[in-house]
Amino acid sequence: MPFTLPDLPYAKDALAPHMSAETLEFHHGKHHRAYVTKTNDLATKAGLEGKSLVEVVKAAKGKGDKKLFNNAAQLWNHSFFWQCLTPAQGQKPEGKLAQRIERDFGSVDALLEKLGTESTEHFSNGWGWLVLDGETLKVTSLHDADTPLVHGLVPLFTLDVWEHAYYIDYRNERPKFAAAVLKNIVNWEFVAKNLDGKGSERADQPATAAREKEATA
Ligand code: FE
Repeated sequence: MPFTLPDLPYAKDALAPHMSAETLEFHHGKHHRAYVTKTNDLATKAGLEGKSLVEVVKAAKGKGDKKLFNNAAQLWNHSFFWQCLTPAQGQKPEGKLAQRIERDFGSVDALLEKLGTESTEHFSNGWGWLVLDGETLKVTSLHDADTPLVHGLVPLFTLDVWEHAYYIDYRNERPKFAAAVLKNIVNWEFVAKNLDGKGSERADQPATAAREKEATA
C-alpha cells in the first residue's frame, strides 16, 4: 500500500471562519491529495518503496531529485501543518513552551508578531516555521516545498503561505490570513509536544514494505 492522504484531525468546517470548509476541501482534498499521488508515483520510479516518508524526503534531497523532493516534502509539510491547527477555543502556549517562548522571544505576542511578519513577507510560495535550532527556538521561512527536515532543524509549528492556503477566504490578503490563523487556531498543545524533538515522526508514514507486513500480520 502506498502513502496515503492523512485524515484531517477535525471536521472540515471546524476552523471557520478563520479557515473555511471550502478552503479545506481544496487545500486538503485536492492540493494535499495531489502531492500524495505524485509522491507515490515518483518514489516507485526512484526505487524508494522501502523508505518511510521522511526517508523519501531526505533521499530525494540527497539524490538531487527535485520533483520527488518537492512532492514528498509537500506531503510531509501539509501532514504536519494540519496538526498545527485546531478549532478556536482561546488556546495559549503553557508551561515549558511558554517559558521557552519568553526566554527566546520575550513574550508570546513578540513571537506571534515575528512569525506573522516572516510568513507575510516571505516572497512567493513557502512556509513560515517555528523550529528548534539546537536548544533555541527560532522563526524562519522556507521556500516552495523546502522543509526543516533537511536542514537539521526540529519542526515545532508551520504556517502554509502558498496562495492556495488563503485565496478562497482572504483573496490576495496574506497578512490577514496569517494574523487570523496565528491569533485563533494554533494548536499550542501540538507545538508543545514537538519540543521532544519528535515532530518529524508525527507527520511521517512508514515504509511501504513495513505497512504491508502490518496489514498481513
Ligand atoms: Fe498548501
